[in-house]
Amino acid sequence: MSVKPPTNAELTATDRDRILAKAAIFAPPSNVLEDGKRDLVGLSREELAAEVEAAGEKPFRAKQLWHWIYHQGVTDFSKMSSIAKPLQEKLAMRFVVGRPQVALDQLSKDETRKFLFKFRDNEAVETVYIPDPVEDRGAVCISSQVGCTLSCRFCHTGTQRLARNLSSAEIVGQFMAARDAYNEWPSPKGETPRLLSTIVLMGMGEPLYNYENVATAMKIVMDGEGIGLSRRRITLSTSGVVPMMNRAGEELGVNLAVSLHAVRDDLRDELVPLNRKYPIKDLIAACKRYPAASNARRITFEYVMLKGINDSETDARALVYLIAGLPAKVNLIPFNPWPGSTYETSSPAAIRKFADIIMDAGYSSPVRTPRGQDILAACGQLKSLAQPAG
Ligand code: SAH
Ligand code: SF4
Repeated sequence: MSVKPPTNAELTATDRDRILAKAAIFAPPSNVLEDGKRDLVGLSREELAAEVEAAGEKPFRAKQLWHWIYHQGVTDFSKMSSIAKPLQEKLAMRFVVGRPQVALDQLSKDETRKFLFKFRDNEAVETVYIPDPVEDRGAVCISSQVGCTLSCRFCHTGTQRLARNLSSAEIVGQFMAARDAYNEWPSPKGETPRLLSTIVLMGMGEPLYNYENVATAMKIVMDGEGIGLSRRRITLSTSGVVPMMNRAGEELGVNLAVSLHAVRDDLRDELVPLNRKYPIKDLIAACKRYPAASNARRITFEYVMLKGINDSETDARALVYLIAGLPAKVNLIPFNPWPGSTYETSSPAAIRKFADIIMDAGYSSPVRTPRGQDILAACGQLKSLAQPAG
């Protein structure tokens, strides 16, 4: 794909710096516990090596620890059998292998499972496991922030103010704790089927507003000597943080999903207020430049279907026009209501018509089946303050 020159709002270093500086204001608490022990989960390979060296141990110990933590899923040093007992004890004096605490565990009648994970400072997020209805595989929908700053009008999370960003440990920890719940350790290798086979960064929060921690966590998840999930099995969803998109594509190479939801700036300004900063034209330009997209790895445009708001045939045709020339597919999401929401879901007929127009133009346009609605686990229904008050 040819490289297009950036427009004003895009990719300016100052814009990126501002976003990263703001992320730092909402930084998670330190990974050192009250008793002085450090959590090893969430450290990059380099950071883990530095910890091992500071403890006076040889570099190969870092590799061993990585294997036990991310391949075997072991949290107890005394179970790390390739490490002699005295060293196990020394490690246990200095470190822990942490997990978020399961504060709530709900199973939907369609087998979707929602966890409320609580962290050491009592902040909490929701994580959803969505099993494939037919095969032994499924997606883990992971949160990146406690709350969200962006206040999209149709999203439950958007009504919860941002408390803080999650740490890399808390991001990767959601996946590891979900795996604990399905006994999926050690990490399946090669062609072995995996129940928890994909990650979608579509839970609470805007992942590109917590880029550094999301990136560290995804690099851990993709490391072939640990969890070993390929970048093709990870999808990052953004509401359109244009200045960070390129970097995510270059450094992580994961699949991109973009929450479009409207084809005109006046409407998108209202539904996704971030549009006022990064309008549709800039967002589409950033998609055109996205380094990890190809015909085999299309950008997903998410489009929530709101009755009488964005679901006309004219909207569908404008959407086709907008994504022309992009390796794209469109995911239509029937609006999922939540307590206090004001929108209605488009009628099945309107959704069908909309999907057909996109399909006739040559783009795949699946309609996302709502999953786990009975436990408020479907897209846009997550909110960690909702329990138990509702
Ligand atoms: N903050 C990121 C990722 C989390 S939201 C983003 O906005 O992309 C994951 C998807 O669910 C987004 O496309 C979001 O717009 C959509 N969504 C939010 N609220 C919804 C609702 N009530 N019904 C259906 N989809 C919703
Ligand atoms: Fe935040 Fe995404 Fe919800 Fe918008 S849709 S409020 S960006 S979580």
